[in-house]
Amino acid sequence: MAKTKYAFFEGQIVPIERAKVSIMTHALNYGTGCFEGIRAYWNDEEEELYVLKMREHYERFHRSCHMLLISLPYDVDTLGDITLELLRREGFQEDIYVRPLAYKASEKLAVQLQDLEDECAIFVTPFGKYIEKEEGASVGVSSWQRISDNAIPARGKITGSYINPALIKTEAIMNGYDEAIVLTADGHVSEGSAQNLFIVRDGKLVTSPVTEDILEGITRASLIELARDELGIDTVERKIDRSELYMAEEAFFCGTGVQIAAIASIDHRKVGTGKMGPIVTRLRDLYFDIARGKNKKYAPWVTPVYAGARRERLAAT
Ligand code: PMP
Repeated sequence: MAKTKYAFFEGQIVPIERAKVSIMTHALNYGTGCFEGIRAYWNDEEEELYVLKMREHYERFHRSCHMLLISLPYDVDTLGDITLELLRREGFQEDIYVRPLAYKASEKLAVQLQDLEDECAIFVTPFGKYIEKEEGASVGVSSWQRISDNAIPARGKITGSYINPALIKTEAIMNGYDEAIVLTADGHVSEGSAQNLFIVRDGKLVTSPVTEDILEGITRASLIELARDELGIDTVERKIDRSELYMAEEAFFCGTGVQIAAIASIDHRKVGTGKMGPIVTRLRDLYFDIARGKNKKYAPWVTPVYAGARRERLAAT
């Protein structure tokens, strides 16, 4: 795996060793930052790297910043251009994770969000699977609760709030599971530790609504669209009881990091046959083809990294 050499930091692309902050930084002390996670997929035949749903991620980044009173000096298009420039500098030829980060940069002890300086950074790094058993994960319902909207909104991708997913994931792994499902304060299904969740009941997809303390996932929205348009399957967005997890025909996680991961068992009860089901199988095939730029119908979902640079080079010669 290649190593990260550069970062976008304090307004320019610098060697990664120079992208450092002081221990007095507000965001380091209080978790006052927000971030994104974007994937770029390598297509070997085309020798091209495709960034998936870049615009949607930077739009959500702007919304998270808005909530934290972080003013970003870059609009969505500029953030996209910076990302492409960074990826071209690195020249990776493998699957990549892009991490934009906006944070309260003041070196000041003050538990507040207003009247502080903001900074924005981006780095990119090679990234493979998030869950080893993507085709059949063993999952447990967490003893932790999802943070609720009136405490720390899960709707924003807030750095400090990820202590909640970290507690959930750690408990799951230490208890021998691959992942966890977390419930809301009132006991309904929220999502995975850091991914959204779908179940299949009576042949229909069911997922928790955005008011159940979930992150409003970009993969979730993409799968709702793909299921409807390509599989002819509607998704019902409604509250899900814990025991419905045990009755589901299929269950799977989705998210930029986790991609689409089938769930084989929940709390030691087999989901369906215990093998990857037909709906999640079809969705995964579609998703990976689109992500690698192989399904031209969905070309607007991906941004080629090297094609633009090649065109510019040709134009210059
Ligand atoms: N929920 C949480 C808590 C997340 O951190 C993420 C992102 N990794 C998701 C859901 C999935 O969101 P997306 O599909 O936009 O990556």
